[in-house]
Amino acid sequence: MVKAIVGANWGDEGKGKITDLFAEGSDVVVRFQGGANAGHTIICDYGKFALHQLPSGVFYPHITNIIGNGVALNVPKFLEELNHLREGGVPAPHIIIDQRTQVLMPYHVLQDQYEEERLGGHAFGSTKSGIAPFYSDKYAKYGIQICELFDEPRLMERLEQVCAIKNVLFEHLYHKPKLDPKAIFEEVTGYRDQIAPYVGDAMSFVKEALAEGKQVLLEAQLGAMKDPDFGIYPFTTSSHTLAGFGCMGVGVAPQDIKSIVAITKAYSSAVGAGAFVSELFGDEAEELRHRGGDAGEYGATTGRPRRVGWFDAVATRYGCKVQGATEVALTAVDVLGYLDEIKVCTGYEIDGKITRDFPVTPLLERAKPVYTTLPGWKCDIRGETDYNRLPSQAKGYVDFLEKEIGVPITIVSTGPKRHEITHRR
Ligand code: GDP
Repeated sequence: MVKAIVGANWGDEGKGKITDLFAEGSDVVVRFQGGANAGHTIICDYGKFALHQLPSGVFYPHITNIIGNGVALNVPKFLEELNHLREGGVPAPHIIIDQRTQVLMPYHVLQDQYEEERLGGHAFGSTKSGIAPFYSDKYAKYGIQICELFDEPRLMERLEQVCAIKNVLFEHLYHKPKLDPKAIFEEVTGYRDQIAPYVGDAMSFVKEALAEGKQVLLEAQLGAMKDPDFGIYPFTTSSHTLAGFGCMGVGVAPQDIKSIVAITKAYSSAVGAGAFVSELFGDEAEELRHRGGDAGEYGATTGRPRRVGWFDAVATRYGCKVQGATEVALTAVDVLGYLDEIKVCTGYEIDGKITRDFPVTPLLERAKPVYTTLPGWKCDIRGETDYNRLPSQAKGYVDFLEKEIGVPITIVSTGPKRHEITHRR
């Protein structure tokens, strides 16, 4: 059986914690898209870890952790993260990187930086970790699969082809030094042998695990709003963030995905550019940002302050729809305990008309929030483990969001730690 843990919003919904929760009862945990450009925060018995490239099952010895073919694999980052785990006393995890997974190359990072520099004030707010150039190259067929690192003549030939194209851009568009295919060859073959023990046929491994009745958990990076098709294009990421892409990103069959848990936070946060209808500014935003997450709303990978706002029911309902969510986990409800009143964005006003449907980007950029105001609970609920013991206003808030989203909220998280969780049904 396959369960997918996905984001209903812009990312940073707290997927790491919920994945960690479900990982315990899973046999296989899979990363199927994205790269080291975002991170999950996990607080477990070994301490606090920000995982960027590794699957969230690495803290459990019984789990096989898969990096699927849909991932952008940053090899130095992968090795660095493994090392970090080792230093933190975590036993060596069992990991398989699919042999067809493509490698994020040093020139992808350079190209990402140069492009954001060229765009100046019109930049996308990229994390500059090479993700957009990586996926562009993959679909333009200039990408390099990890299996190709072990065929040296082939690798050299492919690098020469790629550099011929890149150098036109680097020299004439960006006015930067040209790439030397030999130097790139030396760099990637330099670390190749360190990942060799992890490379294998992950797709077949997952198929066999499913045939044996094992539990497979797919963990997504970012959220529905960042999907390149259904998100706030072009302010999206470059790989599909939807549960359905799990089928492509590791090779499971659509009918195997039985459960899709969409994660949403009790308020909104986003990084990067793009429309954010329920965004807060000034002191109100600063207070929420400061109180949010486990140590404020700052990016797990970049440390950038996140944009924050009220819960956006229009975006979340749509996010759950495109994810195909079967249930919802609501995180960080504890954060809102300081507020007298809590607003929820229940509609968008666009050109004088109110809609509850999430619009296409040109209309989204003109949308103004329509709010419903609910009473706050004015107390600290952090760490509560019994849903029934939550104050009535907090339960009322959850009931209201569930009605707005139209998908059952089964889990309500009351803090960043593993045990700070309540089950609603
Ligand atoms: P992800 O990318 O969706 O995995 O999001 P992250 O885990 O990086 O970011 C969410 C942040 O919220 C992290 O700092 C988590 O530790 C924190 N977090 C998760 N669940 C809760 C919760 O229920 N309450 C609070 N206060 N923080 C939470």
